[in-house]
Amino acid sequence: MRILPVLAASLLPVALVAAPAAASPPTPGPTASGYGGAVASVDPTATAAGLDVLRRGGNAVDAAVAVAATLGVTEPFSSGIGGGGFFVYYDARHHRVSTIDGRETGPATMTSTYFIDPADGQPYDFPEAVYSGLSTGVPGSLATWDAAARNWGTRPLASALNDAAEVADRGFRVDPTFNSQIAADAVQFGQFSSTTKLYLPGGRPPAVGTTQRNPDLARTYRELARKGIGDFYRGAIGSDIVRTVQHPPLASKPIGTWAYPIRPGVLTQRDLAAYRVRSPAPTHSDFRGLDVYGMSTPSSGGTAVSEALNILEQFHLSPADMTKVLHYYLEASALAFADRGRYVGAYTPQPVLSRLASDSWARQRACQISPTKAFVPPVAPGDIHASGCTPAAASAKPTEQGRSTTNLTVADKWGNVVEYTLTIEQIGGNAMVVPGRGFLLNNELTDFNFTGTQGAAPDPNLPGPSKRPRSSMSPTILLKDGKPFLAVGSPGGATIITTVLQILVNRLILGMSLPEAIAAPRASQRNTAGIQAEPAFHAAYGPALEALGHTFGADSPELGAATGIEFTGHGGLVAAAEPVRRGSGAAGVVHPTS
Ligand code: GLU
Repeated sequence: MRILPVLAASLLPVALVAAPAAASPPTPGPTASGYGGAVASVDPTATAAGLDVLRRGGNAVDAAVAVAATLGVTEPFSSGIGGGGFFVYYDARHHRVSTIDGRETGPATMTSTYFIDPADGQPYDFPEAVYSGLSTGVPGSLATWDAAARNWGTRPLASALNDAAEVADRGFRVDPTFNSQIAADAVQFGQFSSTTKLYLPGGRPPAVGTTQRNPDLARTYRELARKGIGDFYRGAIGSDIVRTVQHPPLASKPIGTWAYPIRPGVLTQRDLAAYRVRSPAPTHSDFRGLDVYGMSTPSSGGTAVSEALNILEQFHLSPADMTKVLHYYLEASALAFADRGRYVGAYTPQPVLSRLASDSWARQRACQISPTKAFVPPVAPGDIHASGCTPAAASAKPTEQGRSTTNLTVADKWGNVVEYTLTIEQIGGNAMVVPGRGFLLNNELTDFNFTGTQGAAPDPNLPGPSKRPRSSMSPTILLKDGKPFLAVGSPGGATIITTVLQILVNRLILGMSLPEAIAAPRASQRNTAGIQAEPAFHAAYGPALEALGHTFGADSPELGAATGIEFTGHGGLVAAAEPVRRGSGAAGVVHPTS
């Protein structure tokens, strides 16, 4: 998304308006190289906020928190304090990768039948569950920022919140992405008085080119800066969240007709007060001598990316044979998705996760891939207790495809790196702005499976008391000889895993540069009958892959919206965001070389 900050030019004396223009840093484009620190995000205002922190001596964690707080203002339909995410951090001084699990958490009263309608014993339709109070988990983003700032930052969370509050007050220009995201959800947004007031003034999305302000969010951020995050988890803001979930702020005159009843949720203040971020050890595997670190449960991203890379490592793949590389990429994805469906949820025991990310497991799975004949998905998960090559047989259910979320990558001049994916799940979350507070609530709990997906076997991702839903978010950091080599992540629901994997395949196997690896057309095989591909991928590689037996489903206009940084040695950095997808992203470096 490209949103340009609106300068309060009319408030400044003429001389001041004219003079600093030449000195102000250029608006970040999708690629930048240089040194001294780098930021890549989907939005130029957020990237500029992060670069500003780095220029003023802040570290990567300070900058990442500033970017995230700003995205909560300028990209409110994908992230914000109403949501959660996963923060992966490489600490240069201690040569250590750590994580923060800021995933949303379900209510203590949640049971496995949470998404079953008691009236008829059937699961709720997906949209009915999304746009309800039932879908909202306790948000974890604010606690993530606070933990990151306290553990590893050099400036308090309050500074990031105060700076972002200024953006919310000053406003920003509405761009086509912002406008179209509201238009696409106008009926859902139009059911709620608070959301209509903020995002559908006069019954329509704000026009492209107008200024969008959010004074309620500015006040909320300042209140949190003053009082601390206790105000959110145990205070007035928390009460407002609970009230919104339990009594959705229905509009007296809804816009459009929504097909479902709006169901209230059961989240309580006690649930909010009980919220804690977790710090699970990162997932770890190696690929061609590189150390691959990712996010552990409740995300399935780390194990799935590791498993697929390990499977790919079993084959001799070179840039000379594009079709072969893509064939193995798609097959490895299908296998990794089958295994994640069977084994990965919030409570998967560590030995099972380690096994999934191991080379021995990759060998056991890789032997099922034929060089000449594609799987007919769905393939069955492997048997974690067996060894040897178990033949594939049908099973499993299609996986969800999200449309929202955002990702950011930051590095500083000391060599610290942050890869952070954050979300409110669908675009616009559950569509409820907390009245008077200016932020949308997540619908993350719809990432649980509503009913079992594994036949007679237990489903690891059913709802349960105070449980976190399984995620696909895959913030990934690669080290070479113990030093940062590459960091990458993306939004896109379950396609996050395949987008991150495909970027790594493009970079590490096909030899593309990072910007090329991000820009290249994408396809996603999530163990479903039809590969989901962007039109450019389908056109370029479809015929050769179809000749191997791959089948394509309907094309998707775009998959993911990645960001990344490559470390080119001697302090050199290449920061990259999307050149086109989601309205293009914004990458910048502190000292550009080109
Ligand atoms: N809720 C999704 C997940 O955690 C991400 C949503 C999206 O990217 O659209 O996997």
